[in-house]
Amino acid sequence: MRHDFADRDLLLGVLGEVRDAVLITDARLALPGPVIVYANPAFCAMTGYEPEELVGQTPRLMQGPLTDKDLMQRLKEQLVSGQAFFGETVNYRKDGSPFRMEWSIRPYPATGTPRYFIAIQRDVTALRDLEQQRRQLQALTDIQTKAGTAGLNLQAMREQVAQIGLAITGADGAAVEEAAGKEMVYTAAAGTAMSSLGLRLPVSGSLSGACYRDRVPMYCRDTHNEPRVAREAADRVGFRSGLLVPMIHEERCFGVLKVYSSQVGAFSDSDLDILNMASRVLASSLYDAQSFEQQRQQRTQLIDALPILIARIDMQLCFREINAGYTEWFQRPAGQIIGKPAVDVVGPELFEQALPYMQAALAGEEVIFEQHLWQPDGSMMPVELTYIPQRDDDGQVVGFYSLARDISDRRRAERDHLTQTLNRRGFDARLDIAFATAKRYQRPLSLIFVDLDHFKKVNDNYGHAVGDEVLRTAAQVLCEQVRDSDIVSRWGGEEFVILAPETPLAEAAQLSERLRQRLAFFQHPEVGQVTASFGVTELASEQSERDFINHADQALYAAKGAGRNRVECYRP
Ligand code: GH3
Ligand code: MG
Ligand code: MG
Repeated sequence: MRHDFADRDLLLGVLGEVRDAVLITDARLALPGPVIVYANPAFCAMTGYEPEELVGQTPRLMQGPLTDKDLMQRLKEQLVSGQAFFGETVNYRKDGSPFRMEWSIRPYPATGTPRYFIAIQRDVTALRDLEQQRRQLQALTDIQTKAGTAGLNLQAMREQVAQIGLAITGADGAAVEEAAGKEMVYTAAAGTAMSSLGLRLPVSGSLSGACYRDRVPMYCRDTHNEPRVAREAADRVGFRSGLLVPMIHEERCFGVLKVYSSQVGAFSDSDLDILNMASRVLASSLYDAQSFEQQRQQRTQLIDALPILIARIDMQLCFREINAGYTEWFQRPAGQIIGKPAVDVVGPELFEQALPYMQAALAGEEVIFEQHLWQPDGSMMPVELTYIPQRDDDGQVVGFYSLARDISDRRRAERDHLTQTLNRRGFDARLDIAFATAKRYQRPLSLIFVDLDHFKKVNDNYGHAVGDEVLRTAAQVLCEQVRDSDIVSRWGGEEFVILAPETPLAEAAQLSERLRQRLAFFQHPEVGQVTASFGVTELASEQSERDFINHADQALYAAKGAGRNRVECYRP
């Protein structure tokens, strides 16, 4: 049998039963546009209108401020060109409440000149809300992880907060605003707010200021209807509607997190709730980062004020951190030193000298050594360098700290004015170290006493000034002849002492003989030849420092007694 689809009652009966909202308009596209010819019961239920209130009206009746104008334009264009349309936007019920609907419109008949448009609509408000809530929940759980990526870096943390604000509300722009005196300052920004970073608005006279002062979350649906908004600035940054939440942690308010949109009423109440929840978590992270930053600044101030150079050097021997001392030292801003290989910063020569110590530090040993660093004025400065291994939580060495101390004063106090050799104080300090090292490792150590012969006569015959000059020259000759590791010192008057580590008696005697010859060979301009006598001894096991010195002295005495200008070794 043939089904009679032309049966109008049957078709209306079906349309009355379907759950989707169906709206039929005529196909007039010229203004004022199509007119409604039919709305099914589902459509009336969805919108709250009676069929009689709809028929003869335009569908614009259901549009309002949140209706997507671009979408409506596209709809019109597609219908004009005879195409079907699919889309989603906000419409309004009879009572003025908005709802989201998903809808399709097809021309009828499908070919040729359309006579009607058939629209099928579905209210997806609840579905979209649910989807949004799910996204927001996910965003909330992600916050902790995201906030973690900023670590304890305050600025990175602020930026993360702005990004999170943007992500969880789908806003166009987001900003962290903090109070500075009488102003609110944009300290971090995301999205369209980016260009407003650093923007300042008066606390009294801006919405953020009010949010900060009153510590209450705010939803501004339309900045043009809100007298507290700094209107000019809001329009400039594209803030038409927005959410503002105070970031409160333990009774203190860090600032305000603001998200905004260029559209009126772009947010929901649940957006505000979620942003407010997020702001609590974020405030605590911000305060952590802030207090860490404050501590770091205090530490930096202290470290910068110290009269030493402090640097942190990594496993690749690159500078990682430096204090003000270093920037002053190299007369370069920190930025030009940090990240640079040490060899480039200190130069190949100093680097070469320091390399074994660096390697020792990276092997986990604390080391101390001395070096001469170039000063910006071209002079050299003696420094004592301490390398302290830097370890991570697992105890693995990840670099080392380098502390460089200016020891010019110490050096000056250890030097004899006249000859520039070490004085007794300088000598004693080195003797202690050499003595302990030799004993501990059972290494040879020799001591040589040198006394100029008949020096009193030099003074008597040529005057004290000439005597001084002879002393200076003698010291120079001695220093030139010994090894770098040997220590020459003025013991007092016209007497010198030489400490020779790693040197057994026979070698020390040879050295003394060479020194004796050199001194005797030298012709002083006025005085001519000045000779010296030498007493040599080697450290014996179980010997005290005092005996060690006495033996050398006794040997010298023997050399004097044997006629001067000669070398004598200690004999028990
Ligand atoms: P000897 O061969 O026995 O060592 O005879 P000597 O004359 O060198 O020894 P003595 O100890 O009798 O005299 C040392 C002299 O050295 C006495 C002092 O005037 C002189 N002298 C000590 N210190 C200085 C100094 O700093 N400058 C000068 N010009 N002379 C000094
Ligand atoms: Mg003498
Ligand atoms: Mg003497």
